[in-house]
Amino acid sequence: MNSDWEAIIGMEIHTQLATKTKIFCSCAVETGGEPNSNTCPTCLGLPGALPVLNKRAVELGARAALALGLEIQEVSIFSRKNYFYPDLPKGYQISQYDKPFSANGTLTIMTADRDDHGHAKTWRPMTIHIERMHLEEDAGKNVHEGLPDTDRYSYVDLNRAGTPLGEIVTAPDFRSSWEAYDYVNHVRRVLQWVGASDADMEKGNLRCEANVSVRKKGEEAFRNKVELKNLNSVRFMQKAIEYEIERQIEAHESGEGVSQETRLWDEKNNRTRVMRSKEDAHDYRYFPEPDLQPLRVSREFIDAVKAELPELPDAMRERFIATYGLGFGDASQLTSSLATAEYFETAARITADPKASANWILGELTKELNAANKLIEDSLVTAEDLAELITIVGKGDITNNQAKEVLAEMFATGKAAPAVIKEKGFEQVSDTSAIEKIVDDVIAANPDQAAAFRGGKDALFGFFVGQVMKASQGKANPKIVNEILRAKL
Ligand code: ZN
Ligand code: MN
Repeated sequence: MNSDWEAIIGMEIHTQLATKTKIFCSCAVETGGEPNSNTCPTCLGLPGALPVLNKRAVELGARAALALGLEIQEVSIFSRKNYFYPDLPKGYQISQYDKPFSANGTLTIMTADRDDHGHAKTWRPMTIHIERMHLEEDAGKNVHEGLPDTDRYSYVDLNRAGTPLGEIVTAPDFRSSWEAYDYVNHVRRVLQWVGASDADMEKGNLRCEANVSVRKKGEEAFRNKVELKNLNSVRFMQKAIEYEIERQIEAHESGEGVSQETRLWDEKNNRTRVMRSKEDAHDYRYFPEPDLQPLRVSREFIDAVKAELPELPDAMRERFIATYGLGFGDASQLTSSLATAEYFETAARITADPKASANWILGELTKELNAANKLIEDSLVTAEDLAELITIVGKGDITNNQAKEVLAEMFATGKAAPAVIKEKGFEQVSDTSAIEKIVDDVIAANPDQAAAFRGGKDALFGFFVGQVMKASQGKANPKIVNEILRAKL
């Protein structure tokens, strides 16, 4: 970025709360069903049907709000947000406006300064103000069929209408696309961690929008901002913001200026393009929803939700660093999901060797998981299984390379380490007399080297170890081989 300018970025995230049923009716929240099969008079918007608030949506909303450092408001109000669109049968969305469910959040995330390829160089904490997280219903979906210049049909599927959403809005606190990137990843991980949302951008149950403007350094007033939509992944979002910052700086410098508008990310051409200008902006004519009581949340309810929250990922990362002596990078990766963190702690507890456990999980196990495109919770190798293998390697019963082969087989078949070691013939000979016999033979067969070693050529020790291992077909316990060789030479 041209260093005379700075970027001002605010983020809005819509996240689908992981309820079984919709927010104002008891229709199932499902994907992939027959269009319009999960509908009733309420979510179809039929006259006279009344909304009833789903308590589970409030609980999950509370989990999300608390995990993101927001304050839950004692009283919040549902309001009608009026606009016309075919996927919105009532002609309004039930949302919240001037009295949101939660507000005034302070969230500290870790963000990285990155090189030109996007690789993190150094990490630093950053505190963000989250203005609000309110609750609202999702709209349905328009489905279009047919190619341009042919007969085209559009359909409306209302299965998604009435799905509960949390809308999380930050202050314009971000100064770079990577800060916004780290923020969205942080929010996604926390929402998944506390079970508030699947937060899967590919499935569309986490959607984000960025408000981007630029100003000359030292300027206090904001210049016109652009709203970026259609950001289907965190990486696309980052690219779109980056592109938009450069575009706006150029537009200001050339005197052309920036218009207040909504732009889309065009993934094919790697650029943003105009979706609509400010002149088409909606006036939503918000007013309180007369069919719903104000939502009152008691202190007891908030305390109960708080008590159920698991230890949050950042707190766990710091504990892993302090308790297990791990570095920031390893501790961050081990807290990338709750399942990974629990897996690590189980293995570390059983092996009493956290460093080895971390290395095996982040090394060989992750390699296998990535190759099989699996999550750690779906691995056939449980934390207990891996711990058993680590313990066997630690005793020196098999070599590290053999253990890698054993793990690959365990991963493919779900068999335990001892069974695989037996199958592969990696069982070590720890029988002292058998090893002594081999050592005697090797020394007898190499009298010149034995004499040279005794004469002071220490480097020949490795030669003898190698010969003994070879004669035992790699099965002799290396520790015992060393001891016996030292004694006999
Ligand atoms: Zn319904
Ligand atoms: Mn919204």
